[in-house]
Amino acid sequence: MTGLQIFKYLPGAKKEEHSNCKECGCPTCMAFALKLAKQNIEIDKCPYVKEELKNLYSHSIKHPQKTIEIKGLKIGGENVLFRHEKTYINPTVLAVVVDCNKPDYQNQLERINNFEIKGVNQMFNVDLIILKNYTNQNLGELKVNTITIEEYEKLDILNIENRSFSTTKEALITTRKKAILEKDDNYSNPVAVWMKTNDKYTTSAQASYYICKYANMLIFEEFDEAMFSTLISLRQNIFTDPQKPLQVESNLYEFKEPNENSIIFLTTNFALTFFAVANELENIDVPSYLIVIPADGMSVLTAWSAEKFTANIVSKTIEKLNIREKITTRRIIIPGLLAHMTEELKEAVPDFEFIVGTHEASAIREFVKKLVANK
Ligand code: SF4
Repeated sequence: MTGLQIFKYLPGAKKEEHSNCKECGCPTCMAFALKLAKQNIEIDKCPYVKEELKNLYSHSIKHPQKTIEIKGLKIGGENVLFRHEKTYINPTVLAVVVDCNKPDYQNQLERINNFEIKGVNQMFNVDLIILKNYTNQNLGELKVNTITIEEYEKLDILNIENRSFSTTKEALITTRKKAILEKDDNYSNPVAVWMKTNDKYTTSAQASYYICKYANMLIFEEFDEAMFSTLISLRQNIFTDPQKPLQVESNLYEFKEPNENSIIFLTTNFALTFFAVANELENIDVPSYLIVIPADGMSVLTAWSAEKFTANIVSKTIEKLNIREKITTRRIIIPGLLAHMTEELKEAVPDFEFIVGTHEASAIREFVKKLVANK
């Protein structure tokens, strides 16, 4: 509820008895309403709140979906229907069932445990192993969270067997709508879908849909590295916070084992920009460095217009990353879009030469070829 909506139910709104009496510790009823809307005060601090407001308020602050935790792994806890309304909270957990009665279960465990893919500033693994028929067998060192099926069955999770795509889809959408829109307690548990199809292409397609709408957890009976890589990549796109730009760490990155004389590029820490440039630098034969400027995850021109990419920040970053001690080269290639900054960069960092690079990352290969040829 907003402060104004709350205020309408307080004595101050209708100039009733106790209006602005300050018993709650706030100077006015409006001040109390605004604090309550932000959940910065207990509703009981005002002795004159009517039952109707108590009910409305408690419903409004009630979390629509429970969060279940398995050894630090959070499942559920979502409170919006669509990501753009605010953000999604906990990415769909991807779990694999391993049956310890199967002859190749050790091999399967090893494959799951060794699986990892690199994302922006983080590594991704399988989230959870659910052990079937586990009778204290020695499983070796596992980095993936592991629970037995008996432990899993005790959790407050609503389980759906994926017998048919249309019924699973309907069940997922209905459950999420009931939880979010109606805050119905019968639908507040996180939802897990047990993937039952044998064909991995069908499984991948269906699982992709369920990640988008609205599985909190997907449980697979077979493990396939390619499928998990695909699903994790998709999941990253769905569960990023639209309010926060994806960014990489401001640092000095190395490509193809550069030495102190190698060429140096410079860009911002916006993840898409970084990976576009890094991908090109990884694929040319010339070793290089890439200085990444801290720019709140903004792209080059946006960062410049927001004053997040200034000559002063470049100077400070060169200092902070000890570029002078690490590299002999005194030439830095700046993004082509920032050609107009050359003069101010020279003033701020007089011991470096700033060369205007390309507008697009895709042109870096040709640019470097010419640069090396003209050396
Ligand atoms: Fe208003 Fe209640 Fe606070 Fe009195 S105690 S000022 S009636 S909110």
